[in-house]
Amino acid sequence: MIPASFDYHSPQSLEEALSLLQSHRDDVKVLSGGQSLLPLLKLRLGAAGHLVDIGRIPDLEYIREEGGVLKIGGRTRESALERSDLIQAKYPLLAETAAVIADPIVRNLATVGGNLAHGDPANDHPATMLALRAEVVATGPGGTRTIPIDQFFLGLFAAGNSPAADANNPPDPTKDPTVYWVAYSHLDTQWRWTYPQVISQFIPGTVLTNAALISKYPNYVFNWTGANRYRLLKEYYPPIYSVLSNLVKQGRWFPAGS
Ligand SMILES: Cc1cc2nc3c(=O)[nH]c(=O)nc-3n(C[C@H](O)[C@H](O)[C@H](O)COP(=O)(O)OP(=O)(O)OC[C@H]3O[C@@H](n4cnc5c(N)ncnc54)[C@H](O)[C@@H]3O)c2cc1C
Repeated sequence: MIPASFDYHSPQSLEEALSLLQSHRDDVKVLSGGQSLLPLLKLRLGAAGHLVDIGRIPDLEYIREEGGVLKIGGRTRESALERSDLIQAKYPLLAETAAVIADPIVRNLATVGGNLAHGDPANDHPATMLALRAEVVATGPGGTRTIPIDQFFLGLFAAGNSPAADANNPPDPTKDPTVYWVAYSHLDTQWRWTYPQVISQFIPGTVLTNAALISKYPNYVFNWTGANRYRLLKEYYPPIYSVLSNLVKQGRWFPAGS
């Protein structure tokens, strides 16, 4: 499927990127590896009038130790993490995390910053960064601030990466609390289920289970990860797909981007 139209920006510096994010702040998304964002846009489960591609900004990809602290640039790809001698020798948890993400093609594009900023509880870096008590350094028009990782995730698919999340206008994580139900049993579409099984069992089974829970628990928000699952749902069960699209519009269902 083709995404809704958007203006593509390719800033050459951080300052230029920040200025673009500021000018289009109500309708803009950062594009990093694109491995979560682009599937969402293609499925029209998300939209943005402007995409700011940070891929051509120099110096956003690095892995280095300074003053006994490991620093990883936000644009650092999973494959770089996986291959780094420093990471393998001193931070094996991060090497192991990167190595289990998808496949080499995805790992060559997906970035550590994107993995965290996406705020997907099914992603792997949020858990390991929490375990390592990492800090996220965020740069905005108001300057730079350091966010402890346990304060970075504001909720399901919400991280401290919003253009509005600056030091003068901090988001209130206690507002509109939601409990989410992840109707997701870590059974992977592409690697552990065959496509016929996914189509005949996984998709209808989980959708029907969720449908019952959605009416039963009106304050819960639901999630189902995997762009391929949405694609197959759309192809094989169009009526259910349209019900799901309405739930997304109502904020009852948060599609994951992977
Ligand atoms: C087939 C497939 C399988 C996958 N399997 C796994 C898996 O097993 N485990 C796992 O952890 N992940 C998995 N992923 C997800 C993958 O790791 C994503 O790439 C990652 O979640 C997002 O990183 P990205 O660089 O692609 O970000 P993008 O898709 O470019 O962006 C994701 C979101 O983060 C925001 N964002 C990105 N970078 C920044 C930044 N620097 N500052 C502010 N906001 C930013 C974007 O605006 C967007 O909202 C999979 C993806 C695919 C396609």
